[in-house]
Amino acid sequence: MTTSSNISEAPVRVRIAPSPTGDPHVGTAYIGLINYIYARQRGGKFVLRIEDTDRARFVATSEQEIFNSLRWLGLTWDEGPDVGGPYGPYRQSERTEIYREHCDLLLANGTAYRCFCTADELEAARKQQMAAKLPPRYPGTCRHLSTATIEANLAAGTPFVVRIAVPPHAGDATTSTTFRDELRGDITFEHSNVDDQVLMKSDGFPTYHLANVVDDHLMQITDVIRAEEWISSTPKHVLLYRAFGWQLPRFWHMPLLRNLDKSKISKRKNPVSLIYYRQAGFLPEAVINFLGLMGGGMPEGTGPVTEKFSLEEMVERFRVENIRLGGPVFDLTKLRWLNGEYLRALSPENFYAALRSTVLSDDYLSQIAALVQTRIEMLGEFGNLTHFFFADDILPTAEVFLPKKRTLEETLAFAAEQLTVLEATEWTTAALEQALKKLGEEKGWSVKENFMLLRAIITGSTMSPPLLESMVVFGKARSLDRMRRFLEAQKKQAPKK
Ligand code: GLU
Repeated sequence: MTTSSNISEAPVRVRIAPSPTGDPHVGTAYIGLINYIYARQRGGKFVLRIEDTDRARFVATSEQEIFNSLRWLGLTWDEGPDVGGPYGPYRQSERTEIYREHCDLLLANGTAYRCFCTADELEAARKQQMAAKLPPRYPGTCRHLSTATIEANLAAGTPFVVRIAVPPHAGDATTSTTFRDELRGDITFEHSNVDDQVLMKSDGFPTYHLANVVDDHLMQITDVIRAEEWISSTPKHVLLYRAFGWQLPRFWHMPLLRNLDKSKISKRKNPVSLIYYRQAGFLPEAVINFLGLMGGGMPEGTGPVTEKFSLEEMVERFRVENIRLGGPVFDLTKLRWLNGEYLRALSPENFYAALRSTVLSDDYLSQIAALVQTRIEMLGEFGNLTHFFFADDILPTAEVFLPKKRTLEETLAFAAEQLTVLEATEWTTAALEQALKKLGEEKGWSVKENFMLLRAIITGSTMSPPLLESMVVFGKARSLDRMRRFLEAQKKQAPKK
Protein backbone atom coordinates (compact mmCIF):
# COMPACT_ATOMS: atom_id res chain seq x y z
CA MET A 1 0.00 0.00 0.00
CA THR A 2 1.36 3.44 -0.85
CA THR A 3 2.15 5.67 2.07
CA SER A 4 2.72 9.34 1.35
CA SER A 5 5.81 11.08 2.56
CA ASN A 6 5.55 12.94 5.82
CA ILE A 7 2.56 15.29 5.58
CA SER A 8 4.33 18.06 7.47
CA GLU A 9 6.90 18.35 4.67
CA ALA A 10 4.68 17.69 1.67
CA PRO A 11 3.74 20.66 -0.53
CA VAL A 12 0.44 22.06 0.65
CA ARG A 13 -2.65 20.80 -1.16
CA VAL A 14 -6.12 21.64 0.07
CA ARG A 15 -9.56 21.06 -1.32
CA ILE A 16 -13.18 21.87 -1.05
CA ALA A 17 -15.54 19.07 -1.84
CA PRO A 18 -19.06 20.42 -2.31
CA SER A 19 -21.94 18.12 -3.13
CA PRO A 20 -24.12 19.25 -6.05
CA THR A 21 -27.41 18.88 -4.21
CA GLY A 22 -28.89 22.34 -4.64
CA ASP A 23 -27.96 26.00 -4.79
CA PRO A 24 -24.33 26.81 -3.93
CA HIS A 25 -24.24 27.60 -0.23
CA VAL A 26 -22.61 30.53 1.60
CA GLY A 27 -20.96 27.92 3.82
CA THR A 28 -19.17 26.53 0.76
CA ALA A 29 -17.89 30.00 -0.06
CA TYR A 30 -16.73 30.51 3.53
CA ILE A 31 -14.83 27.21 3.67
CA GLY A 32 -13.66 27.81 0.09
CA LEU A 33 -12.25 31.20 1.09
CA ILE A 34 -10.24 29.75 3.96
CA ASN A 35 -8.89 26.94 1.79
CA TYR A 36 -8.04 29.39 -0.98
CA ILE A 37 -6.16 31.69 1.39
CA TYR A 38 -4.35 28.78 3.03
CA ALA A 39 -3.12 27.49 -0.32
CA ARG A 40 -2.15 30.91 -1.68
CA GLN A 41 -0.21 31.76 1.49
CA ARG A 42 1.87 28.61 1.20
CA GLY A 43 2.41 28.37 -2.54
CA GLY A 44 0.10 25.36 -2.46
CA LYS A 45 -2.68 24.06 -4.65
CA PHE A 46 -6.39 24.58 -4.15
CA VAL A 47 -8.46 21.71 -5.52
CA LEU A 48 -12.18 21.63 -6.27
CA ARG A 49 -13.69 18.18 -6.07
CA ILE A 50 -17.33 17.44 -6.76
CA GLU A 51 -18.78 14.89 -4.33
CA ASP A 52 -21.72 13.64 -6.34
CA THR A 53 -22.15 10.12 -5.05
CA ASP A 54 -25.51 10.77 -3.41
CA ARG A 55 -27.60 10.13 -6.49
CA ALA A 56 -30.88 10.65 -4.65
CA ARG A 57 -30.04 14.27 -3.83
CA PHE A 58 -28.19 15.07 -7.06
CA VAL A 59 -29.30 18.26 -8.86
CA ALA A 60 -28.07 18.48 -12.44
CA THR A 61 -27.63 22.26 -12.59
CA SER A 62 -25.92 22.50 -9.23
CA GLU A 63 -22.35 21.76 -10.29
CA GLN A 64 -22.29 24.58 -12.85
CA GLU A 65 -23.80 26.96 -10.29
CA ILE A 66 -21.07 26.03 -7.82
CA PHE A 67 -18.45 26.86 -10.45
CA ASN A 68 -20.16 30.14 -11.36
CA SER A 69 -20.58 31.29 -7.78
CA LEU A 70 -17.03 30.52 -6.70
CA ARG A 71 -15.62 32.24 -9.79
CA TRP A 72 -17.91 35.21 -9.17
CA LEU A 73 -16.31 35.51 -5.74
CA GLY A 74 -12.82 35.24 -7.22
CA LEU A 75 -12.06 31.91 -5.53
CA THR A 76 -10.36 30.24 -8.47
CA TRP A 77 -9.08 26.68 -8.17
CA ASP A 78 -5.96 25.07 -9.58
CA GLU A 79 -7.42 21.63 -10.22
CA GLY A 80 -11.01 20.57 -10.71
CA PRO A 81 -13.52 18.87 -12.99
CA ASP A 82 -13.59 21.76 -15.45
CA VAL A 83 -9.89 22.72 -15.40
CA GLY A 84 -8.39 19.25 -15.07
CA GLY A 85 -5.20 18.45 -13.19
CA PRO A 86 -2.84 15.58 -12.49
CA TYR A 87 -5.05 13.79 -9.92
CA GLY A 88 -8.33 13.58 -11.81
CA PRO A 89 -11.02 12.77 -12.43
CA TYR A 90 -12.27 15.35 -9.92
CA ARG A 91 -15.88 14.25 -10.01
CA GLN A 92 -16.56 11.31 -7.72
CA SER A 93 -19.15 9.73 -10.00
CA GLU A 94 -16.29 9.18 -12.46
CA ARG A 95 -14.19 7.39 -9.87
CA THR A 96 -16.44 4.49 -8.86
CA GLU A 97 -13.93 1.89 -10.05
CA ILE A 98 -11.29 3.40 -7.75
CA TYR A 99 -13.61 3.17 -4.74
CA ARG A 100 -14.58 -0.38 -5.57
CA GLU A 101 -10.93 -1.46 -5.67
CA HIS A 102 -10.27 0.23 -2.36
CA CYS A 103 -13.35 -1.29 -0.82
CA ASP A 104 -12.11 -4.73 -1.90
CA LEU A 105 -8.84 -4.06 -0.11
CA LEU A 106 -10.71 -3.37 3.12
CA LEU A 107 -12.84 -6.48 2.70
CA ALA A 108 -9.70 -8.50 2.15
CA ASN A 109 -7.89 -7.21 5.22
CA GLY A 110 -10.91 -7.60 7.50
CA THR A 111 -11.49 -3.91 8.26
CA ALA A 112 -14.80 -3.97 6.37
CA TYR A 113 -17.52 -6.54 5.90
CA ARG A 114 -20.55 -7.16 3.71
CA CYS A 115 -23.92 -6.57 5.31
CA PHE A 116 -26.94 -8.32 3.83
CA CYS A 117 -29.54 -6.92 6.27
CA THR A 118 -32.74 -5.74 4.62
CA ALA A 119 -34.24 -2.30 5.16
CA ASP A 120 -36.98 -3.92 7.28
CA GLU A 121 -34.48 -5.68 9.51
CA LEU A 122 -32.54 -2.46 10.03
CA GLU A 123 -35.75 -0.61 10.81
CA ALA A 124 -36.80 -3.25 13.35
CA ALA A 125 -33.40 -2.98 15.06
CA ARG A 126 -33.68 0.79 15.09
CA LYS A 127 -37.10 0.66 16.71
CA GLN A 128 -35.87 -1.70 19.40
CA GLN A 129 -32.93 0.60 20.17
CA MET A 130 -35.22 3.62 20.32
CA ALA A 131 -37.54 1.78 22.69
CA ALA A 132 -34.57 0.92 24.89
CA LYS A 133 -33.48 4.60 24.67
CA LEU A 134 -30.24 3.59 22.96
CA PRO A 135 -28.70 5.59 20.13
CA PRO A 136 -29.52 4.03 16.73
CA ARG A 137 -26.57 1.89 15.69
CA TYR A 138 -26.00 -1.00 13.35
CA PRO A 139 -26.39 -4.05 15.64
CA GLY A 140 -23.51 -5.94 14.03
CA THR A 141 -25.65 -8.80 12.69
CA CYS A 142 -23.46 -9.42 9.63
CA ARG A 143 -20.13 -8.75 11.27
CA HIS A 144 -19.29 -12.37 11.86
CA LEU A 145 -20.97 -14.20 8.99
CA SER A 146 -19.24 -17.38 7.94
CA THR A 147 -17.52 -17.48 4.58
CA ALA A 148 -20.06 -20.09 3.48
CA THR A 149 -23.01 -17.79 4.32
CA ILE A 150 -21.39 -14.86 2.54
CA GLU A 151 -20.73 -16.95 -0.53
CA ALA A 152 -24.24 -18.35 -0.56
CA ASN A 153 -25.66 -14.81 -0.33
CA LEU A 154 -23.42 -13.59 -3.12
CA ALA A 155 -24.31 -16.57 -5.31
CA ALA A 156 -28.00 -15.87 -4.68
CA GLY A 157 -27.50 -12.26 -5.72
CA THR A 158 -28.67 -10.90 -2.33
CA PRO A 159 -28.05 -7.15 -2.31
CA PHE A 160 -25.50 -5.96 0.23
CA VAL A 161 -23.71 -2.91 1.50
CA VAL A 162 -20.16 -2.81 2.83
CA ARG A 163 -19.62 -1.54 6.37
CA ILE A 164 -16.53 -0.55 8.26
CA ALA A 165 -15.70 -2.90 11.13
CA VAL A 166 -15.06 -0.39 13.89
CA PRO A 167 -12.59 -1.99 16.33
CA PRO A 168 -12.35 -3.92 18.50
CA HIS A 169 -12.32 -6.78 16.07
CA ALA A 170 -9.95 -9.62 15.33
CA GLY A 171 -6.52 -8.11 14.91
CA ASP A 172 -7.34 -4.73 16.41
CA ALA A 173 -8.32 -4.31 20.02
CA THR A 174 -8.38 -0.52 20.18
CA THR A 175 -11.45 0.95 21.82
CA SER A 176 -11.07 4.62 20.97
CA THR A 177 -9.65 6.89 18.28
CA THR A 178 -7.80 10.10 18.93
CA PHE A 179 -6.91 12.60 16.26
CA ARG A 180 -5.55 16.09 16.29
CA ASP A 181 -7.66 19.01 15.19
CA GLU A 182 -5.40 21.97 14.45
CA LEU A 183 -7.79 24.43 16.13
CA ARG A 184 -8.88 22.27 19.04
CA GLY A 185 -6.05 19.92 19.88
CA ASP A 186 -6.60 16.21 20.47
CA ILE A 187 -10.12 14.86 20.16
CA THR A 188 -10.98 11.35 21.33
CA PHE A 189 -13.98 9.28 20.32
CA GLU A 190 -14.81 6.08 22.19
CA HIS A 191 -15.61 3.39 19.67
CA SER A 192 -18.74 2.54 21.60
CA ASN A 193 -20.04 5.78 20.05
CA VAL A 194 -18.86 5.08 16.53
CA ASP A 195 -21.22 3.21 14.23
CA ASP A 196 -20.24 0.56 11.67
CA GLN A 197 -20.88 3.09 8.93
CA VAL A 198 -21.78 2.02 5.40
CA LEU A 199 -18.84 2.56 3.04
CA MET A 200 -20.32 1.18 -0.15
CA LYS A 201 -24.02 1.26 -0.93
CA SER A 202 -25.93 -1.51 -2.67
CA ASP A 203 -26.05 0.61 -5.83
CA GLY A 204 -22.25 0.34 -6.07
CA PHE A 205 -21.72 3.99 -5.11
CA PRO A 206 -19.48 4.74 -2.17
CA THR A 207 -20.69 6.82 0.75
CA TYR A 208 -19.10 10.13 1.57
CA HIS A 209 -16.78 8.54 4.13
CA LEU A 210 -15.03 6.09 1.82
CA ALA A 211 -14.89 8.34 -1.23
CA ASN A 212 -13.70 11.33 0.76
CA VAL A 213 -10.82 9.47 2.40
CA VAL A 214 -9.72 7.65 -0.74
CA ASP A 215 -9.76 10.89 -2.73
CA ASP A 216 -8.03 12.99 -0.11
CA HIS A 217 -5.26 10.43 -0.05
CA LEU A 218 -4.96 9.89 -3.81
CA MET A 219 -5.16 13.62 -4.46
CA GLN A 220 -2.40 14.08 -1.87
CA ILE A 221 -4.38 16.50 0.24
CA THR A 222 -2.24 17.69 3.14
CA ASP A 223 -4.83 19.75 5.00
CA VAL A 224 -8.50 18.94 5.32
CA ILE A 225 -10.09 22.27 6.12
CA ARG A 226 -13.84 21.84 6.46
CA ALA A 227 -16.84 22.69 8.60
CA GLU A 228 -17.04 21.43 12.17
CA GLU A 229 -20.14 19.39 11.42
CA TRP A 230 -17.72 16.76 10.08
CA ILE A 231 -15.84 16.30 13.37
CA SER A 232 -17.93 13.31 14.38
CA SER A 233 -17.18 11.68 11.00
CA THR A 234 -13.44 12.16 11.42
CA PRO A 235 -12.81 9.13 13.70
CA LYS A 236 -14.31 6.94 10.97
CA HIS A 237 -12.03 8.59 8.46
CA VAL A 238 -9.01 8.10 10.71
CA LEU A 239 -9.89 4.41 11.03
CA LEU A 240 -9.99 4.20 7.25
CA TYR A 241 -6.63 5.91 6.83
CA ARG A 242 -5.19 3.39 9.28
CA ALA A 243 -6.89 0.46 7.59
CA PHE A 244 -5.23 1.49 4.32
CA GLY A 245 -1.91 2.22 6.04
CA TRP A 246 -1.97 5.85 4.93
CA GLN A 247 -0.57 9.04 6.45
CA LEU A 248 -3.21 11.29 8.03
CA PRO A 249 -3.70 14.79 6.68
CA ARG A 250 -3.94 17.69 9.12
CA PHE A 251 -7.56 18.35 10.10
CA TRP A 252 -8.93 21.84 10.61
CA HIS A 253 -12.61 22.08 11.49
CA MET A 254 -14.03 25.54 11.05
CA PRO A 255 -16.82 26.83 13.28
CA LEU A 256 -20.18 26.86 11.52
CA LEU A 257 -21.74 30.12 10.45
CA ARG A 258 -24.66 31.00 12.70
CA ASN A 259 -27.95 32.83 12.38
CA LEU A 260 -28.39 35.87 14.60
CA ASP A 261 -30.02 33.63 17.22
CA LYS A 262 -26.85 31.47 17.18
CA SER A 263 -28.54 28.48 15.58
CA LYS A 264 -26.69 26.87 12.66
CA ILE A 265 -27.13 29.03 9.57
CA SER A 266 -30.30 28.02 7.79
CA LYS A 267 -32.31 29.10 4.83
CA ARG A 268 -35.26 29.77 7.11
CA LYS A 269 -33.41 32.64 8.76
CA ASN A 270 -30.92 33.86 6.15
CA PRO A 271 -30.56 33.61 2.42
CA VAL A 272 -27.92 30.90 2.10
CA SER A 273 -27.80 30.60 -1.68
CA LEU A 274 -24.90 32.40 -3.33
CA ILE A 275 -27.18 32.89 -6.32
CA TYR A 276 -29.36 35.08 -4.12
CA TYR A 277 -26.45 37.37 -3.28
CA ARG A 278 -25.47 37.73 -6.91
CA GLN A 279 -28.99 38.36 -8.16
CA ALA A 280 -30.00 40.67 -5.32
CA GLY A 281 -27.06 42.93 -6.17
CA PHE A 282 -24.34 42.26 -3.66
CA LEU A 283 -20.85 42.88 -4.97
CA PRO A 284 -18.55 39.86 -4.83
CA GLU A 285 -15.88 41.99 -3.13
CA ALA A 286 -18.31 42.79 -0.32
CA VAL A 287 -19.42 39.20 0.13
CA ILE A 288 -15.87 37.87 0.23
CA ASN A 289 -14.83 40.67 2.62
CA PHE A 290 -17.79 39.84 4.85
CA LEU A 291 -16.93 36.14 4.91
CA GLY A 292 -13.34 37.06 5.75
CA LEU A 293 -14.58 38.91 8.82
CA MET A 294 -16.15 35.74 10.17
CA GLY A 295 -14.34 33.92 12.92
CA GLY A 296 -11.42 36.20 13.68
CA GLY A 297 -8.92 35.06 11.04
CA MET A 298 -8.12 38.68 10.19
CA PRO A 299 -6.32 40.88 12.74
CA GLU A 300 -8.75 43.04 14.71
CA GLY A 301 -9.23 46.51 13.27
CA THR A 302 -9.72 49.71 15.22
CA GLY A 303 -12.83 50.98 13.49
CA PRO A 304 -15.38 50.11 10.88
CA VAL A 305 -13.24 51.19 7.95
CA THR A 306 -10.42 48.78 8.79
CA GLU A 307 -12.97 46.01 8.42
CA LYS A 308 -12.76 46.59 4.70
CA PHE A 309 -10.21 44.46 2.93
CA SER A 310 -9.71 42.70 -0.38
CA LEU A 311 -9.02 39.06 -1.11
CA GLU A 312 -5.36 39.94 -1.74
CA GLU A 313 -5.13 41.64 1.65
CA MET A 314 -6.65 38.56 3.24
CA VAL A 315 -4.05 36.37 1.59
CA GLU A 316 -1.45 38.65 3.18
CA ARG A 317 -2.87 38.97 6.67
CA PHE A 318 -5.37 36.17 7.41
CA ARG A 319 -4.27 33.57 9.97
CA VAL A 320 -6.28 30.37 9.98
CA GLU A 321 -4.85 29.41 13.38
CA ASN A 322 -6.45 32.53 14.87
CA ILE A 323 -9.97 31.42 14.00
CA ARG A 324 -12.10 31.51 17.14
CA LEU A 325 -14.25 28.52 17.90
CA GLY A 326 -17.36 30.48 18.90
CA GLY A 327 -19.74 30.36 15.95
CA PRO A 328 -19.38 33.45 13.77
CA VAL A 329 -22.70 35.21 13.28
CA PHE A 330 -23.83 35.79 9.73
CA ASP A 331 -25.34 39.22 10.20
CA LEU A 332 -27.12 40.27 7.04
CA THR A 333 -27.48 43.84 8.29
CA LYS A 334 -23.73 44.07 8.49
CA LEU A 335 -23.28 42.57 5.03
CA ARG A 336 -25.71 45.14 3.63
CA TRP A 337 -23.80 47.92 5.33
CA LEU A 338 -20.53 46.63 3.96
CA ASN A 339 -22.01 46.23 0.48
CA GLY A 340 -23.19 49.84 0.71
CA GLU A 341 -19.64 50.90 1.52
CA TYR A 342 -18.38 49.13 -1.58
CA LEU A 343 -21.14 50.55 -3.77
CA ARG A 344 -20.48 54.10 -2.63
CA ALA A 345 -16.78 53.68 -3.33
CA LEU A 346 -17.45 52.90 -7.00
CA SER A 347 -16.98 55.58 -9.60
CA PRO A 348 -20.33 56.75 -11.05
CA GLU A 349 -19.50 54.86 -14.25
CA ASN A 350 -18.77 51.65 -12.40
CA PHE A 351 -21.83 52.05 -10.22
CA TYR A 352 -23.98 52.38 -13.32
CA ALA A 353 -22.19 49.42 -14.89
CA ALA A 354 -22.89 47.37 -11.75
CA LEU A 355 -26.61 48.13 -12.04
CA ARG A 356 -26.64 47.31 -15.73
CA SER A 357 -24.95 43.99 -15.24
CA THR A 358 -27.29 42.84 -12.48
CA VAL A 359 -30.69 44.25 -11.49
CA LEU A 360 -31.00 46.29 -14.71
CA SER A 361 -29.29 43.98 -17.16
CA ASP A 362 -30.48 43.83 -20.76
CA ASP A 363 -31.38 40.23 -20.26
CA TYR A 364 -33.52 40.94 -17.19
CA LEU A 365 -35.21 44.00 -18.70
CA SER A 366 -36.06 42.27 -21.95
CA GLN A 367 -37.65 39.34 -20.15
CA ILE A 368 -39.72 41.71 -18.05
CA ALA A 369 -40.72 43.76 -21.09
CA ALA A 370 -42.03 40.61 -22.76
CA LEU A 371 -44.31 40.00 -19.76
CA VAL A 372 -46.04 43.41 -19.88
CA GLN A 373 -46.27 44.24 -23.57
CA THR A 374 -49.81 42.84 -23.88
CA ARG A 375 -51.13 44.77 -20.89
CA ILE A 376 -49.57 48.21 -21.24
CA GLU A 377 -51.23 51.36 -22.65
CA MET A 378 -48.40 53.85 -22.24
CA LEU A 379 -44.70 53.11 -22.03
CA GLY A 380 -44.62 55.40 -19.03
CA GLU A 381 -46.67 52.82 -17.11
CA PHE A 382 -43.86 50.30 -17.25
CA GLY A 383 -42.85 51.06 -13.68
CA ASN A 384 -46.41 50.73 -12.37
CA LEU A 385 -46.69 47.23 -13.78
CA THR A 386 -43.25 46.00 -12.88
CA HIS A 387 -41.99 47.75 -9.75
CA PHE A 388 -41.94 44.49 -7.79
CA PHE A 389 -39.13 43.28 -10.06
CA PHE A 390 -36.97 46.15 -8.91
CA ALA A 391 -37.89 46.51 -5.26
CA ASP A 392 -36.06 44.67 -2.53
CA ASP A 393 -38.90 44.18 -0.10
CA ILE A 394 -42.54 43.89 -0.93
CA LEU A 395 -44.77 43.55 2.07
CA PRO A 396 -48.50 43.35 1.25
CA THR A 397 -51.03 44.28 3.92
CA ALA A 398 -53.57 41.72 5.11
CA GLU A 399 -56.18 43.47 2.95
CA VAL A 400 -54.20 42.46 -0.09
CA PHE A 401 -53.04 38.97 0.79
CA LEU A 402 -55.82 37.54 2.98
CA PRO A 403 -58.43 35.53 1.01
CA LYS A 404 -61.99 36.46 2.00
CA LYS A 405 -62.90 33.15 3.55
CA ARG A 406 -59.64 32.42 5.34
CA THR A 407 -58.27 33.31 8.75
CA LEU A 408 -54.88 34.95 9.11
CA GLU A 409 -53.54 31.89 10.86
CA GLU A 410 -54.53 29.39 8.18
CA THR A 411 -53.33 31.74 5.45
CA LEU A 412 -49.88 32.07 6.96
CA ALA A 413 -49.72 28.32 7.52
CA PHE A 414 -50.57 27.81 3.85
CA ALA A 415 -47.99 30.39 2.74
CA ALA A 416 -45.37 28.48 4.75
CA GLU A 417 -46.42 25.31 2.92
CA GLN A 418 -46.09 27.11 -0.40
CA LEU A 419 -42.56 28.08 0.55
CA THR A 420 -41.62 24.53 1.53
CA VAL A 421 -43.03 23.13 -1.71
CA LEU A 422 -41.42 25.77 -3.90
CA GLU A 423 -38.01 25.29 -2.30
CA ALA A 424 -38.02 21.78 -3.72
CA THR A 425 -39.48 22.70 -7.10
CA GLU A 426 -37.66 23.12 -10.37
CA TRP A 427 -37.99 26.75 -11.43
CA THR A 428 -40.07 26.50 -14.59
CA THR A 429 -43.67 27.63 -15.03
CA ALA A 430 -44.85 24.08 -15.67
CA ALA A 431 -43.18 22.67 -12.55
CA LEU A 432 -44.32 25.59 -10.41
CA GLU A 433 -47.89 25.24 -11.58
CA GLN A 434 -47.96 21.54 -10.94
CA ALA A 435 -46.42 21.81 -7.49
CA LEU A 436 -48.73 24.62 -6.38
CA LYS A 437 -51.87 22.93 -7.69
CA LYS A 438 -50.97 19.70 -5.97
CA LEU A 439 -50.48 21.52 -2.69
CA GLY A 440 -53.79 23.37 -3.12
CA GLU A 441 -55.63 20.12 -3.72
CA GLU A 442 -54.06 18.50 -0.69
CA LYS A 443 -54.89 21.40 1.59
CA GLY A 444 -58.28 22.31 0.16
CA TRP A 445 -57.24 25.69 -1.25
CA SER A 446 -58.83 26.72 -4.54
CA VAL A 447 -56.51 27.60 -7.41
CA LYS A 448 -57.68 31.19 -7.13
CA GLU A 449 -56.97 31.51 -3.40
CA ASN A 450 -53.67 29.73 -3.79
CA PHE A 451 -52.35 31.88 -6.64
CA MET A 452 -53.78 35.13 -5.28
CA LEU A 453 -51.95 34.65 -2.01
CA LEU A 454 -48.69 33.97 -3.79
CA ARG A 455 -49.27 36.87 -6.16
CA ALA A 456 -49.73 39.19 -3.20
CA ILE A 457 -46.54 37.95 -1.57
CA ILE A 458 -44.40 38.21 -4.68
CA THR A 459 -45.85 41.31 -6.32
CA GLY A 460 -47.50 43.09 -3.40
CA SER A 461 -50.67 43.45 -5.38
CA THR A 462 -53.80 41.60 -6.48
CA MET A 463 -53.03 42.38 -10.12
CA SER A 464 -49.78 41.62 -11.88
CA PRO A 465 -48.25 40.27 -15.06
CA PRO A 466 -48.59 36.46 -15.27
CA LEU A 467 -47.46 35.27 -11.86
CA LEU A 468 -45.49 32.11 -12.60
CA GLU A 469 -43.71 33.66 -15.58
CA SER A 470 -42.85 36.63 -13.38
CA MET A 471 -41.44 34.34 -10.70
CA VAL A 472 -39.30 32.56 -13.26
CA VAL A 473 -37.86 35.89 -14.43
CA PHE A 474 -37.43 37.17 -10.86
CA GLY A 475 -35.55 33.96 -10.08
CA LYS A 476 -35.86 31.21 -7.54
CA ALA A 477 -33.45 32.62 -5.00
CA ARG A 478 -35.07 36.04 -4.81
CA SER A 479 -38.64 34.70 -4.95
CA LEU A 480 -38.02 32.36 -2.04
CA ASP A 481 -36.31 35.13 -0.14
CA ARG A 482 -39.36 37.32 -0.63
CA MET A 483 -41.63 34.58 0.66
CA ARG A 484 -39.44 34.06 3.72
CA ARG A 485 -39.34 37.73 4.47
CA PHE A 486 -43.11 37.94 4.17
CA LEU A 487 -43.53 35.13 6.70
CA GLU A 488 -40.88 36.63 8.96
CA ALA A 489 -42.58 40.04 8.90
CA GLN A 490 -45.95 38.51 9.70
CA LYS A 491 -44.43 36.63 12.62
CA LYS A 492 -43.04 39.88 14.00
CA GLN A 493 -46.41 41.56 13.68
CA ALA A 494 -48.33 38.72 15.30
CA PRO A 495 -49.68 39.70 18.75
CA LYS A 496 -47.64 38.02 21.49
CA LYS A 497 -49.62 35.25 23.14
N1 GLU B 1 -19.15 16.67 0.43
C1 GLU B 1 -18.95 17.24 1.72
C2 GLU B 1 -19.77 18.52 1.76
O1 GLU B 1 -20.62 18.68 0.97
C3 GLU B 1 -17.49 17.49 1.94
C4 GLU B 1 -17.08 17.60 3.38
C5 GLU B 1 -15.56 17.60 3.50
O2 GLU B 1 -14.97 18.63 3.18
O3 GLU B 1 -15.01 16.58 3.89
O4 GLU B 1 -19.62 19.38 2.58
